[in-house]
Amino acid sequence: MRQRASGNPPRVSYTGRGMSEKVLVLFSGGVDSAVALWLVKRDSPDVELYTLTVNYYRRSSGEMRCAEKLAALAAVKRHIVVEAPYIREIEDMPGSQSLNSGGRVLPSVFIPVKNLLFYSLAAHLAFMVGAKRVVVGHNYEDSKLFPDVASSLIERFNELLRESLPSYGLTVEAPLLEYTKRQVYQMAVELGVPLEYTWSCWRAGEIHCGACDGCLTRRRMFYELGLRDATVYESLNTS
Ligand SMILES: [Zn+2]
Repeated sequence: MRQRASGNPPRVSYTGRGMSEKVLVLFSGGVDSAVALWLVKRDSPDVELYTLTVNYYRRSSGEMRCAEKLAALAAVKRHIVVEAPYIREIEDMPGSQSLNSGGRVLPSVFIPVKNLLFYSLAAHLAFMVGAKRVVVGHNYEDSKLFPDVASSLIERFNELLRESLPSYGLTVEAPLLEYTKRQVYQMAVELGVPLEYTWSCWRAGEIHCGACDGCLTRRRMFYELGLRDATVYESLNTS
């Protein structure tokens, strides 16, 4: 495990890939997936980029606009939006709010089997556009919060891909999985990610609410790293 303490921004490299390569980034418009996208851009500047956003139940229009804006700023070849209103977080499923995993209550934004669904969808669309790499933006804290964020799961998923698509060579990669949220923000600064267009709110408003766990973490990261926070928040109360 690499060091996860604060300090200099970590370096993650993707150099040495082919010039005609195509990469599909599973893209929510949040800070993590934006950093994943900009990492690929920095380290493989000649690749043809695709972004995939899944518009599942009750995603906000603000969040979708951020994803679209960031994809445009990254000059991706195509920003793909898949409409999937039947996919819901547990807080949107009556009676399922207290799902547990390993003795812990899962976050309200947990989506059952989300990553197997999303990786499969991304793999299918990657094949359609001729990409052989799917890049996802999970970070270290995600792997502690969600049972389906794990390097072991990705390794096994890639084994299934090898069986499902023999000789094609498609893989899912999670370059940020060993890095904390703070380190990912540091990378965002280093990479020049336009943080003002990223989305962190867990609620479905037009602007960031300022009070949910996603917004509180965002506000704390900007504060701790001494960054100007241009985000418009509905409320700056912390209670
Ligand atoms: Zn919020």
